[in-house]
Amino acid sequence: MSELVMLIEDEKEIRELARYNLERAGYRVASLADGEQGLARVFASRPDLLVLDLMLPGLTGLEVLRELRGEPATRDLPVLVLTARSTEMDRLLGFEHGADDYLVKPFSPRELVARVRALLRRARPERAEGSLAVGGLVVDARPHDARWNGRALDLTRREFALLAFFAHHAGRVLSREELLRKVWGYDYVGETRTVDVHVRRLRVKLGDGGRAIETVTGAGYKFIAGQGDGA
Ligand code: CA
Repeated sequence: MSELVMLIEDEKEIRELARYNLERAGYRVASLADGEQGLARVFASRPDLLVLDLMLPGLTGLEVLRELRGEPATRDLPVLVLTARSTEMDRLLGFEHGADDYLVKPFSPRELVARVRALLRRARPERAEGSLAVGGLVVDARPHDARWNGRALDLTRREFALLAFFAHHAGRVLSREELLRKVWGYDYVGETRTVDVHVRRLRVKLGDGGRAIETVTGAGYKFIAGQGDGA
């Protein structure tokens, strides 16, 4: 069965355009126009991905997002936020609330489908298997093996998980909150400083490769493929 994409958007034209294009791309689509009803439907239908408008009647998009992130069952649901406002502040605000990606209105249907496809691919569990090479880094989910330019890295489980997460999301800014949630897990109660401590240790262990983990001021971290790999 194809993947179920849920769409919460109160503007009818956008909703129908999105639905039409997502269905044409092979997805099943359920759409709602209201934040509160939408949230109830997400819990009831358990979609594979949610496309969420920020300005909604009922509950706002950010309120919906907060509810979803507070529930173990939906904490890791991929969420693509639609926003009419393009300022950097809004993006950061959304990242803090745990959106996985953003699309600023007006957007092209083709861009929407591409983002949805990318998010779903990233969310699939099998991505944790096999090996992945990014720049000088190779991570192998089994048996938890990581190498930098051929040199085996001696990592703790958590350091490995963090490095693998960076590698799978190369080029993307990851907030400390998101890293805590996705690498440490939803039942972990801790401070974002924990992330900084682990990043520092990872950088030391990576040596030259440490530069690949960039600090993005005020936002979090970004793994840059090709940085420090001697290429
Ligand atoms: Ca709206």
